[in-house]
Amino acid sequence: MTTTEAATARTYGNLIGAGWREPSGGQTFESINPARRSEVIGHFARGTAEDVELAVRAASAAQPDWARTPVPARAEILARAGRILEERKEELAQLMTREMGKVLTEARGDVQEGIDMAKYMAGQGRNPVGEVVPSELRQKRAFAERVPIGVVGCITPWNFPMAIPCWKLMPALLAGNAVVFKPAEDTPLVAIKLAEILIEAGLPAGVLGLVTGLGEEAGAALVEHPGVRAISFTGSVKVGQEIAAACGRLSKRVSLELGGKNAMLVSADADLELALEGAIWGAFGTTGQRCTATSRFIVQEMVLASFTEQLVARVQKLRLGDGLDPETDVGPVINEVQLRRIHGYTEVGQKESARLLTGGNVATRGALAEGNFYEPTIFSEVGPEMRIAQEEIFGPVLCIIPFEDDNEAVEIANGTIYGLAAQVESGSLERAEAIAHRLRAGSVNVNGGLYHAPDSPFGGYKQSGVGREMGVLGFDEYTEVKLLAYGQREGAGQQ
Ligand code: NAD
Repeated sequence: MTTTEAATARTYGNLIGAGWREPSGGQTFESINPARRSEVIGHFARGTAEDVELAVRAASAAQPDWARTPVPARAEILARAGRILEERKEELAQLMTREMGKVLTEARGDVQEGIDMAKYMAGQGRNPVGEVVPSELRQKRAFAERVPIGVVGCITPWNFPMAIPCWKLMPALLAGNAVVFKPAEDTPLVAIKLAEILIEAGLPAGVLGLVTGLGEEAGAALVEHPGVRAISFTGSVKVGQEIAAACGRLSKRVSLELGGKNAMLVSADADLELALEGAIWGAFGTTGQRCTATSRFIVQEMVLASFTEQLVARVQKLRLGDGLDPETDVGPVINEVQLRRIHGYTEVGQKESARLLTGGNVATRGALAEGNFYEPTIFSEVGPEMRIAQEEIFGPVLCIIPFEDDNEAVEIANGTIYGLAAQVESGSLERAEAIAHRLRAGSVNVNGGLYHAPDSPFGGYKQSGVGREMGVLGFDEYTEVKLLAYGQREGAGQQ
């Protein structure tokens, strides 16, 4: 894109009440294509505390009527949103690849997760919710109702620009809350498209507010706002902990989906072909930018040499490029800051005396120089305590760690601050299950990659998170429990 084209890229506002408004501070920021930094996707409102104030005010005004709307009617709006997402899936996926960089097949999967969540939550709108509590008194009946919290703040990262917002917005709205949504600064346009679709589907004005902008400005203002009674956050551990501290101080409900340093355990009796396929997808799918990316391969000594040799040979064949090109296996990383951060970890690994087997550089060949590309990188001879084996890199970097027996493998796998996902590969289901039971992670997969579905709870142990997303547990995060007991005074009406 030329400078003139960049200058003509559209400017988008914040969704406040019934319409889109310019930011109160008058400032904007750009979203750019990570595969081609000269391509500006759009200019977006740099939301301020004042914009958050306006959005929360509109949401607070709209929420009581939304809460009185029958649940099946709320669900029907979500179902319609699901249908619109489905009709526009290809267009949204292409936009996502341009804005975020993931290869098109993955971008389609990301939109599909949004569609699935909309449909699942629409179905939930016809399910019984709450409990009839056995009453201790003859003339009272007691119910534990699930009622809306009020106004909920949703703060999301850039790596699943459609799926993660849908995991939050769909249950929060179904439960009768109003939502103020602050998407990641790298992917505001996909978020705006989702908001437009919910409005087209019939969501009443004010029930959804959207404020784009920086985390420390718009995001922090949302967390601090007294009218927002719960925060649902997905992102880094550091920011998640700051948000949790603020929510603790303000007595706000908070749920957190944070980072991971996920392990794949490959035992000597594993199907090596399947393990290799899993390794390549786990480490280099989404360019390693998934909270569930497999970044530690814990491989039994007996098969270490052959596994490593075959893995390196295959990884060297992966093609880097623009995710819109069907030939591309691995897309760009999200921005230049991440590119430098990832390379910093390569340097750390080398200083720690891990052995760099392949990759380890910013890719600059031909058109790759125009975007944020990093070579798929593998380190072997990695010690479990090294920083590259402990810290989330969030890029295409994989560490191979050897193990001798299953006890050692479990100890290494559990030996980080994280506990999001893990994978066990073994020809013996009995052995794999025994290992799986000892792994401290929210999702454990035996002989296959991450299982993920809208009705399956997702979340982390330890510093990977607090609470669960998706499924019934994910819905419950957006409700208060009200014990409602009613009936006559004891003794009344008995004469
Ligand atoms: P991030 O923490 O930098 O930002 C996430 C969101 O928080 C963005 O919208 C950002 O603007 C906002 N934010 C930043 N500072 C804030 C503040 N002080 N107050 C309020 N909001 C603030 O994370 P990121 O770089 O966008 O995403 C990558 C991280 O997300 C990785 O650590 C990854 O593991 C994690 N992640 C976790 C899951 C999961 O489900 N567990 C899923 C995807 C990503």
